[in-house]
Amino acid sequence: MIVRLVLLFIFVFLGYTVFTALLRMLGGGSSSSSRSADPDRMVPCSQCGTYVPETEVIRKKIRGEHYQFCSKECLQDFKHKS
Ligand SMILES: [Zn+2]
Repeated sequence: MIVRLVLLFIFVFLGYTVFTALLRMLGGGSSSSSRSADPDRMVPCSQCGTYVPETEVIRKKIRGEHYQFCSKECLQDFKHKS
């Protein structure tokens, strides 16, 4: 009887382990990998071409197009130029 209980326990434990592993695979590891901006990623300024960290870039949508700038000055220059 005890052996049966131990076997049942092992079976349930293995089943649970496989189940959670499958869930993690199906979820695509969304919990472990954050989707926030990568601080190491550099993006070019649409005005002067200077590369700035993605976390500090200024994003603007101008006439339906998406632009990114290294500073407010570049944003103003870009608006005046075009
Ligand atoms: Zn710039």
